Amino acid sequence: MKKHGNSDYQLMKGLLKICLPLALGLLSTSLDARAQSFTAVGVARASEGLIKIYDPKVRDVSLVVPAPKGTPTPCRDNNQSTNGDWEAFYCRLDRTILISQQALEQIEKRYGLEAIATLVAHEFAHGRQHALTGFSSDLVWTSVFDELQADCIAGVYMRRATPIALSQKQIKRSKAFLENIGNYSVLEREWHGTPGMRGAVFQFGYDKGSLSACWATNEKSWRNVLVNSATLMDKVIEKTPGVIDKLIERGSDLLNDS
Ligand SMILES: [Zn+2]
Repeated sequence: MKKHGNSDYQLMKGLLKICLPLALGLLSTSLDARAQSFTAVGVARASEGLIKIYDPKVRDVSLVVPAPKGTPTPCRDNNQSTNGDWEAFYCRLDRTILISQQALEQIEKRYGLEAIATLVAHEFAHGRQHALTGFSSDLVWTSVFDELQADCIAGVYMRRATPIALSQKQIKRSKAFLENIGNYSVLEREWHGTPGMRGAVFQFGYDKGSLSACWATNEKSWRNVLVNSATLMDKVIEKTPGVIDKLIERGSDLLNDS
């Protein structure tokens, strides 16, 4: 039997269409303050299933959740995970997403189940980038373009992979999660974007509902997204309007040199 035959996917699709809205809607009211719940794990796995149905490019990506300390991964020191608070990543070496027990617990507690679906969507977006184009951070000095593009793709996944439109409240909470983990370390290579940028790009992807809308591979298109987005009146950008221009300039320079 083919592992990922079409009929299997059709069946899974039917089942999962029921799972995620249920998990996000009905069960979220019954959460308490315990460690990561079965529901959180269920939402992560249901999100995985739905995203894989929607996007064939990530069907070979694995998800390890919740990953206890010492989970084998070639992307960490000593080839094992640490169960860190924010340990959630896509590892390109084995095309595996790892979300630690701690990260799952923290995110569920602080941001709710929508954030878990959003996180899973963001990490699968890295899987898609990897499969299609590779990472721009291999070419330019910053990972910010990859990260914002992943947020955009996550918005598309959340819109298209789930069969029922999320409520405004759920979208708001997904955005709030990304906004809260955005930061202002604009000069660091690992900068993921400011809170306003992350939220806006996620919303952009959600509204467009099309992967091609996020597949803006040149920096100019990204710039349009950023400039046109009303919600991007972010403090940092207001204070330092040249930041994006500088990023784009430096990225272009490096690309042209190579
Ligand atoms: Zn990322």
